[in-house]
Amino acid sequence: MIRILTCITQQHDLRLVALSAVICALGSFAVTTMMAQAEVTKAPHTARWIGAAAVVFGSSVWALHFVAMLAFAPAEGIAYEIDLTASSIAVAVAGTWVALLLWHLFRRPAAVALAGTVLGLAIAGMHYLGVSAMRSSGFIAFDPAFVVASLGVGIGLAALALARARDLLSLRRRIEVTTWLALAICGLHFTGMAATTVAPMLRLSEEGHLLGSTSLALAVGLVSLAILLACLIAILFQQHLSQRAVRELNRMRLLANLTHEVLLIHRDCEIVEVNDAGVRLFGEPVEDLVGRNILGLFAESEGPTLARRARCPVDDLRPEEFIMRAAGGVLVPVELSCSAIEFGGRPATAVALRDLTDRKRDEARIRHLALHDALTDLPNRYLLEQRLAHALDAAAQDGSGVAVVYLDLDRFKPVNDLHGHAVGDALLVQVAKRMLGELRPTDTLARVGGDEFVAVLAGTRAPEHAAEISDRLVGGLVRPFAIEGQCVEIGASAGVALYPGDGGTAETLLRAADTALYRVKDDGRGAVRFFEASMDTQLQARRQMEYELGLAIARDELRLFYQPIVNGATGEIETFEALIRWQHPERGFVSPAEFIPLAEQSGLIAQIGAWVIDTACAAAASWPRPWRVSVNVSPQQFRQSDVPAIVVRALARHGLVAARLVIEITESVFIQDATKAVEVLTRLRGLGVRLALDDFGTGYSSLSYLQQFRFDKIKIDQSFVRKIEQSADTLTIVRAIANLGHNLGLQVTVEGVETAEQLAILRQLGCDQMQGYLFAKPAPKLPASELEQARLRALFAGAAARVA
Ligand code: C2E
Ligand code: MG
Ligand code: MG
Repeated sequence: MIRILTCITQQHDLRLVALSAVICALGSFAVTTMMAQAEVTKAPHTARWIGAAAVVFGSSVWALHFVAMLAFAPAEGIAYEIDLTASSIAVAVAGTWVALLLWHLFRRPAAVALAGTVLGLAIAGMHYLGVSAMRSSGFIAFDPAFVVASLGVGIGLAALALARARDLLSLRRRIEVTTWLALAICGLHFTGMAATTVAPMLRLSEEGHLLGSTSLALAVGLVSLAILLACLIAILFQQHLSQRAVRELNRMRLLANLTHEVLLIHRDCEIVEVNDAGVRLFGEPVEDLVGRNILGLFAESEGPTLARRARCPVDDLRPEEFIMRAAGGVLVPVELSCSAIEFGGRPATAVALRDLTDRKRDEARIRHLALHDALTDLPNRYLLEQRLAHALDAAAQDGSGVAVVYLDLDRFKPVNDLHGHAVGDALLVQVAKRMLGELRPTDTLARVGGDEFVAVLAGTRAPEHAAEISDRLVGGLVRPFAIEGQCVEIGASAGVALYPGDGGTAETLLRAADTALYRVKDDGRGAVRFFEASMDTQLQARRQMEYELGLAIARDELRLFYQPIVNGATGEIETFEALIRWQHPERGFVSPAEFIPLAEQSGLIAQIGAWVIDTACAAAASWPRPWRVSVNVSPQQFRQSDVPAIVVRALARHGLVAARLVIEITESVFIQDATKAVEVLTRLRGLGVRLALDDFGTGYSSLSYLQQFRFDKIKIDQSFVRKIEQSADTLTIVRAIANLGHNLGLQVTVEGVETAEQLAILRQLGCDQMQGYLFAKPAPKLPASELEQARLRALFAGAAARVA
């Protein structure tokens, strides 16, 4: 080392040594910039950059060598052989090219070491060829130890330079690699020079194939100039590159900030970029986030999941939900997805975080809505069944009991009808509150229907306890409610079933409590009843009938009977009312009064009702005279199916004129949703179908319905006709109804005329049409023979004679 320093300080012109070092450093820097470019560009540009780097590096080594040779004191009177001088630069360029290719193509440590060796040998080759080219007047000798040392220094530092030559877009890294390269060149050169001894002998002329110091100076000057130019171009290019990188970064930031999602870029978990949404979520400025470990942003509980993900390649990872620690330590659910990208010319990972707070809140809300009744916020049937199943499990384990109380409000529908839905809704909310006040927190109260509730009394074994609570629930609802300044009075009925006595599952217990409730309703409401086994038998019978009714259409067990409706003055047949019968294989004819309510409750009414309309239209279309056909449509059918559409289809299929069809409905179609009922009736009227209000006078407010919709006729209920002979009041009522109907321009029909006396009285009242056993009973065949019609006319002639 001392010898090398001595060689530099004593045998060299230090100014020229400094100049050579500058040339060498500039050349090396130009080379690293070109290598950086080779790293980021694609073929064929890579090869060009590597080629250029090889030329610049080879030239730098060569220029350093000869400037340093000029600085070498014993060089006085030294000349250089042109061939060797030229081949020394060729060796430097070619060797560098091979080394850089190896470095670029094979990134493994062994390949880099090999590349370093080749580069070191290229520098050494240049140096020793350059020294061999020297023709001096003295004698040139080499010290082998220093020759070996110079090779070691050159190869070692060149290998180190190439090993560190990664991520060269970073200026700091390029300066570092430049330093190693420059040291490799200088180290080899000066160690090599320390190995060289020149002993003066005789002067050489500068003729022939020898290059004198002046020519050498010229050549070196030109090469140095070329190196400086290359540096300048490399630096300009670098500036262009970094400007483009800045522009790209800005554009990327702009795009990243347009999204509401958080975008983070990290490299080996160190955050290198974050968008505005990320700044907002984590509540920290970009400067604080950049440089931090991304794992620190996750909740602690996410450690195992993150560790699992870390073991997979980034592009194989699917989006996953995580909890992040956001501003103020708030835990925020996010959906995380990531992909491998190139950022700043180096591989990195882009992470997108979608804040799931709103979605989670919505999901929770939807879950709540799916399990609760929107009006009262009580559990719905689904949640009730879950809670009941839990209560049963617990009772089975600790040997306790469970009571299920099925409650139905009395007189709720009239309240809803009279005061409107808003009051009905407010009432239900107050009912729920009042009942909750009677229950323990461990009990469940659910709303399972319009005005039906179920209470599950967990851990209740004693029937007395269940009875006491049920009484309190029912009793609490008898007290008047104050709603929107109005006093509303209702009541409630309840059926109770007990676990384990009345059933072992949620389903059987609910059914048992419901059965008991049915019994209370049958018995007149307003009470509590416990389930009894005999109730079940009745219920079973009902279920059996419901099942058989479901098969009745397919088994062709339904029939339509027809009953004539005659002119109130002449007895001429005008219409036939179609009345359904169920011809049961074992029970015989089942009355509609028995099975229509069952069909309504089970939902079968839509199917049966459609069959009736279609069959009646088919029959009427085949009659010998254009009598009208009157069809009864149940309120449930009215609500559950699209009656106008069914009518349109039936009329079209059988070619019946709409005016020959009369639809009879009762006023209960207006209960629940009067607006909807009026809308459907209006559509039917639009088809040209006639509309009759059946059983008139039996409801709460028949008159009010006449105001809501203009019917074609009213059918005065047979209960009035039955009493008309005995009761003067009834006669007055029927007269008033008939007058009212006529004043409103409606046809008035009376049903249930059984006697000649009734006929005579009703004729006097001017009823337009009559129907009853006196004229004909409902029959499967039309009672419309000429004889039959003559009999009817005679009945009226007789009645007229009696009145006269
Ligand atoms: P509704 O529409 O008021 O029909 C008149 C009922 O009174 C019929 O009973 C008929 O047989 C009976 N009736 C007629 N004249 C007399 C009489 O002079 N004396 C007595 N005591 N009764 C008489 P039915 O056929 O048993 O029908 C009962 C109810 O069942 C009907 O009352 C109607 O509401 C319903 N219904 C009948 N057929 C159908 C149908 O096809 N669809 C629907 N939805 N309901 C139907
Ligand atoms: Mg009727
Ligand atoms: Mg009727």
